[in-house]
Parts: sequence; structure tokens; C-alpha cells
Amino acid sequence: MLEANYSFFHSVEQSFDKAAKFTKWEKGLLEQIKACNSIYSMKFPVKMDDGRIEVIEAYRVQHSQHKTPCKGGIRFSMAVNQDEVMALASLMTYKCAIVNVPFGGGKGGIKINPKAHSSYELEKITRRYTSELVKKNFIGPGIDVPAPDYGTGEREMAWIVDTYQSLKPGEIDSAGCVTGKPVSQGGVRGRKEATGLGVFFGIREVCNMPDLMAKLGLTTGVNGKKVVVQGLGNVGYHSAKFFREHGAVVVSIAEFEGAIYKEDGINEEDLFQHRKATGSILNFPGATNLAKSTDALELACDILIPAALENVINGDNAPRVQAKIIGEAANGPLTPEADEIFTQKGILVVPDMYLNAGGVTVSYFEWLKNLSHVRYGRMEKRFTENMNHHILSQLEDLTGKKVSDAERNFIEHGADEVDLVHSGLEETMITATREIMDIWKANPEIPDMRTAAYVCAINKVGTSYSELGIFP
Ligand code: NAD
Repeated sequence: MLEANYSFFHSVEQSFDKAAKFTKWEKGLLEQIKACNSIYSMKFPVKMDDGRIEVIEAYRVQHSQHKTPCKGGIRFSMAVNQDEVMALASLMTYKCAIVNVPFGGGKGGIKINPKAHSSYELEKITRRYTSELVKKNFIGPGIDVPAPDYGTGEREMAWIVDTYQSLKPGEIDSAGCVTGKPVSQGGVRGRKEATGLGVFFGIREVCNMPDLMAKLGLTTGVNGKKVVVQGLGNVGYHSAKFFREHGAVVVSIAEFEGAIYKEDGINEEDLFQHRKATGSILNFPGATNLAKSTDALELACDILIPAALENVINGDNAPRVQAKIIGEAANGPLTPEADEIFTQKGILVVPDMYLNAGGVTVSYFEWLKNLSHVRYGRMEKRFTENMNHHILSQLEDLTGKKVSDAERNFIEHGADEVDLVHSGLEETMITATREIMDIWKANPEIPDMRTAAYVCAINKVGTSYSELGIFP
């Protein structure tokens, strides 16, 4: 239970300060990096289906405009308040910096329970919120670009872009005012699996570092590693899928109704279908049910992926966690006490701030697609295929040998949009992992990878501010 006067924004500031000690920036500049630049708190009336007028409380925070546009999701939740939106916006600044997405951080929230409203009411609320943002110049492809978050998805993003376009007729880049749109409205292929795939790429890169693996007593590579995943939602499902497809063994999956264990590995799609048919992941053929869902977190394994909720590993259960690597796919799955315990035990925590950045990275690709007005791969796919076909034919003529049909298809294939999005994400996650690790290696005083990630973010935002100079 959190204290009544707990401030999420203040706790982000504390993590920032812990890392700032390892940077060279002067106090004033650090204060500027931490501060929320613009906060728009609004109230507006919406007439509900029964004729009642409800006053809606909502926010949009632009934490940093050191790079524009600002970027960050919009959540619909009764827990929304200014402090939370400020904290989430600041985390977006740091997350974007780490993965080299050239945006400042932003976040929005509407204090409603989306389940308590009809779709028509939600549409009215979303459209009114968007028009309030337009009025105050808080949205636009070069200003601030929202995205989905808790309680929002493609549908809400489609309402936002439609409202924006009707208020800004003829603005040529208007589709880039929001990301996470349906593909038919300017969305990009590959976004759904982006966060889980990014989690996989990040952890795989860590596992490919021989020195680090030796320190943890593990072999290099993900092949054969035992993985436990908490949550079979979007992020958990896709994380499990990519680990399995690359040779890891997903021995346990936990959901809120319980957890299962299967020594020779779980196929996430089979489990998903089993849950759909029976309403539960329990009693999955060939697997053992665990006594409690949280028992999965304490199993002997190499990699633990909490991909469900915040604060699931805390001072109470952290001493019993046996994993060597914890990949924070969810936001905030570890409490500071758990973090402390893992640092002492030498367990590697790969931090959420960059590990789950796949979503924002692919949002960046969507925004670029909107600005360029052309689908990825459209210009070069056919050219590449013709060229590959020609090269392969020449090689076959010269050698007198033929490749198999499967090889031919693989070699001649030109990149589709989804191939390019996945490849861009892979490059992003590998580079970010290496940058953070280089910072950590260069300064052994830095206690953990989370602090190294913050140092990485502070240095990038600090450089940007210092090179901007101060406007008189
Ligand atoms: P989701 O709603 O699709 O999945 C969450 C899953 O966790 C659900 O299947 C739910 O039943 C399960 N769950 C709930 N309580 C549980 C419990 N006590 N034990 C085990 N499982 C439980 O959500 P998601 O999009 O997969 O997001 C998961 C986490 O990842 C969140 O923390 C979110 O903030 C974070 N995240 C998501 C994205 C994204 O692109 N979706 C990006 C960054 C971070």
C-alpha cells in the first residue's frame, strides 16, 4: 500500500538524482532536465447518453521540449492525476533519449473508467479532449504526438486523428498527430508485437555478452535458457513467443488465475487457445498447476519476465527469486526494496525504461511513415527482388548448382513494411543495450543497470540542452 502523500513524480526525481551523481552536468541544467516544461490541466463538460452533463478532468503534460514533438500515451483511468501524468511524461523523456527516438517526453490522461461508458460517450470524450488540445496548441505532428496507453487503443487514436484533421483541414502531415492508429488510418505494421519483440531483442543482446554471462554463471546466448513469464497479455504473449522461437524454453507462465509449469516448454499460442476455450491457463495438457500464481516468480530459471503489473516483486518475495536475469517488460514491476536486494545478490535487472521501449520506437517509425506519406518498402521491394533474382541466377549459372526453393524464396525476398519495422527495432534495442552497458562498464561505481540507463538518458538530454544554449 502506498502512503497517502506518495508522489510518483518525486520517486522518479529520486532515481534521477541517484544517477545524476555519475554525470558531469551542473546543478541548474539537471534541474531543467527534471522539470516538467508545460502542464495543461483541463475540465470540460460532456453530455452522457442519459442526458446528464458530466465534468471531465483531464491532463496533457509535456515534460521536455529539448526535442520536438513530445511523445507519450494517453490513459483512461480513474487513477489519473496530475502527479502521475507528470511522472509518466518524464519517464518518456528518458525512455526516448535512451533508444535514440528524437522526441521529448509527454503523457496524457483522462480521469474516467472506460468500462463505465458507452462507446458513443467515449468517442465524445476523446474528441472533446482532442479539440481542447488543438485549442491550446498541445497536439500536432511537430508539437506533441499522443499514443495508446492503459484503457486506450487503435479506436481512440482513430477518433483523435479524425478530430484533428477536421479542425486542421489541409495540414499535409496531419496523420502524424498521433500514433498507434489502425493501419487503414496511417498506422504501421508490426506495432502490436513491438514491445514483446523489443524485450526479446534487449535480453538477447545482454545474453550475447560473454563477460556478463560468465559473471552470472550462464552460457552465452538465449538458446536453451529457461524462461518464466508473468502475464499472457500483449507484452507477455509476444515476449514468450519470440523467446520460444529463438530456442529458449518457456517453462512457466503466470496469469491472475494461477500459473503452470512445463519442463519441456510451453507454446504460448496453444496456451492462449486453451485459456480461450476453458477460461483459464490452468490444467494445460502436459503441464503442472502451481499452488499460487506468484509461485512462478520464485521458480529456478535463467530469465524472469514480469509482463503484467507494477510492484509484483517486492521486499517480501525478492529474497526467494532464483532467476539470474530479470527483464522488466511491465512498467515498474520491482519495488526499490526488491531492486536493492537484487543488486546485493548479483541478479541482473534489465530496466523497464528501455527494455519496454519497443512500442515508442515503432511509434516513431509510424510518425516517419506519416511524414513521408509512403508505406515502408513500397519503393524498393520489387527492385531488391529483381536484383536478388538476377544475382542468384548468375551464381547458379556460374556454379552449375541450384539452391532449394525455400532458400530461393528467402534470398530473393524484398523487405515488406513489417520486415523493416522489425529490423529497425532490432537495431534500436541492440544499440541502446550496448550504450547502457558501456556506461556501466566505464564506471564500476554505478550500482546497477537501471542507474546506468538513467545516466545514459541524462547525458543525452543534457548534451541536447547544452548544445541548444539558453534562449535569452
Ligand atoms: P495486457 O492487459 O495486454 O496484459 C496484461 C496481462 O497481465 C493480462 O493478460 C492480465 O490478465 C495479466 N495479469 C493481470 N494480473 C495478473 C497477476 N496478478 N498475475 C499474472 N498476470 C496478471 O497489457 P500489456 O499491454 O501486455 O502490458 C503489460 C505491462 O507492460 C504493463 O505494465 C504495461 O504498462 C507495460 N507496457 C506495455 C506496452 C505495450 O506496448 N503494450 C509498452 C510498454 C510497457
